[in-house]
Amino acid sequence: MGENWRKRTALVHDGIRRSQYGEVAEAIWLTQSFVYDSAEQAEARFIASGEDEFIYARYGNPTVRMFEDRIAALEGAEDGFATASGMAAVNAALMSMLKAGDHVVSARALFGSCLYIVEEILPRFGVEVTFVDGTDNAAWARAIRPDTAVVFLETMSNPTLELIDLGVVADLAHAVGAAVVVDNVFATPIYSRALELGADVVVYSTTKHVDGQGRCLGGVVLGTRDYIRKTLEPFLKHTGGAMSPFTAWVMLKGLETLDLRVRAMTASAGRISAALEDHSKLQNVIYPHLPSHPQHDLAKAMMEEGGTMLSIDVAGGQAAAFRVLNALQIFTISNNLGDAKSIVTHPATTTHQRLSDEQRARLGISPGLIRVSIGIEDGSDLLDDLLQALDRA
Ligand SMILES: *Cc1c(COP(=O)(O)O)cnc(C)c1O
Repeated sequence: MGENWRKRTALVHDGIRRSQYGEVAEAIWLTQSFVYDSAEQAEARFIASGEDEFIYARYGNPTVRMFEDRIAALEGAEDGFATASGMAAVNAALMSMLKAGDHVVSARALFGSCLYIVEEILPRFGVEVTFVDGTDNAAWARAIRPDTAVVFLETMSNPTLELIDLGVVADLAHAVGAAVVVDNVFATPIYSRALELGADVVVYSTTKHVDGQGRCLGGVVLGTRDYIRKTLEPFLKHTGGAMSPFTAWVMLKGLETLDLRVRAMTASAGRISAALEDHSKLQNVIYPHLPSHPQHDLAKAMMEEGGTMLSIDVAGGQAAAFRVLNALQIFTISNNLGDAKSIVTHPATTTHQRLSDEQRARLGISPGLIRVSIGIEDGSDLLDDLLQALDRA
């Protein structure tokens, strides 16, 4: 459907399935299973079900399928499978591909639960994992071996916004026949070029920018039709990570406005990071498209825009950072991101609390670091709020 549509059009129309009532808004087919006209039809559907034939909501559902088709069209992927959360998507993408004896190379800077899967769960099932500093291309080259089955990474790290040169890593992985699995939340589906740069499988937590209004958990795995239907679907349909039809409807509505929201948030994030760059109370402002970002050229090459996230390092450590957090009036203190509401997070005491001081230092998570997720409020109000809070630092 709509092969030549640009993203904004695809986000509103792609994948739509209308019932005999001709509803304008996508319907929520809140049903667990489906009835058959005859015993013969039931038998035929269990042998092979067609595009618009469903059996059981753990396997697929029309509302969920609309969401999968629409987000796959946006990413430029052949197919997708939606899941109950971002972590269900990451887990299924990895577990569906790996078996005992396989070798995985993973970036060290990962979302906490992703790190738990690769560091704690995979080794329990006989998968060997080598961790590398994702920004070091030579380290990837040393770690990837002829028996490496999967390479796993987040294109932009949380919360220090370091980039991994996906094109280089994908070439190294493909040279040994390894699959490249990318968790692409921070790049957002709007600025993603992951498939073009060589990713084989792209995973999103749709809890973030896709819902974007703080309501539902969700995830999606995107890839070739062959991978999604022959490798991932059998794993997911039997292990039960399916997205609910209600959630899929919320995510479909999220997709309609995704481009508008992400571009508005990004415009404010760019302006705010530039305005704060030389602030006397800040040791550092991290934003991928700021010329001072250590990987500025790579950030420009990999992403059309700098994205919706920035991080600031408040001089004076944790006490000063807490004063700033507590003085903010528009920004809310939470650990979500990509939301319409602007959110601030203190990684050292929340999302990365579990790590040792040494691990945090290695990842660049200093006591004064605040992660900032820019929302869709007026950017001038957001900047004013940050400036008045920094006065209290
Ligand atoms: C939030 C997030 C996840 C997990 O997603 P959930 O929907 O919370 O399960 C995984 N990876 C990254 C990079 C995230 O930001």
